[in-house]
Amino acid sequence: MRIILLGPPGVGKGTQAKLLSETLHVPHVSTGDMLRDAAAAGTELGRKAKITMDAGQLVSDDTMIGIIRDVLQMDKCRHGFILDGFPRTIPQAQALTRLFDELHLRLDAVINMEIGDEEVVKRLTSRRSCKRCGKIFNFLTDRLTDSSNCPSCGGELYQRDDDKPDTIRARLSVYARSTAPVKSYYEQTGLLVHADASGSIEKINRAILALLNSSRD
Ligand code: AMP
Repeated sequence: MRIILLGPPGVGKGTQAKLLSETLHVPHVSTGDMLRDAAAAGTELGRKAKITMDAGQLVSDDTMIGIIRDVLQMDKCRHGFILDGFPRTIPQAQALTRLFDELHLRLDAVINMEIGDEEVVKRLTSRRSCKRCGKIFNFLTDRLTDSSNCPSCGGELYQRDDDKPDTIRARLSVYARSTAPVKSYYEQTGLLVHADASGSIEKINRAILALLNSSRD
């Protein structure tokens, strides 16, 4: 299946994408993770992207479209993928449509996950990720203390640099201005479905799987 997850930062796209990836046996393609990996590796792209990410702004469309063009043609994506964090602008969505046409791929579903801004801020400021396995945890829902290690693999937990209050506000306004219009773009294709992203991870996952099943009928 080829699926796009849309929604504001902190809505849980990464968490749900990882679960869907396990259930559907297709890779989780997260542009944010790719940029963070590039930053950790100290590549030129990574160093530049880190400055943009830490300011809560978007990396250029040309750069992101180039990255996605390469990834979607990799062998691992042959049977499908879950796109998390792309497209984030109308030009990215348009470029993705052209790429699908060129590669003769069919998009199966676009899942829009929604929660309010206050909930976003609460979730993002209490989010932690594991340096080793990449799993995402949250002080609100997981039993964690400041000195906790990853409950899954024991790795070190860290807070993303862009999960600080000032950057979160910038990311929310960028989302409203540049990314929210992408919903209308996909509404017109008839592929957009809405998932309530409040509640437990398991409940949201069940709701998304049900939406995917009914969109296949
Ligand atoms: P995420 O992990 O999806 O929240 O992405 C973290 C940051 O990476 C974003 O705030 C942007 O700075 C950058 N980024 C990720 N994906 C994109 C994209 N498709 N277009 C532009 N910037 C992106």
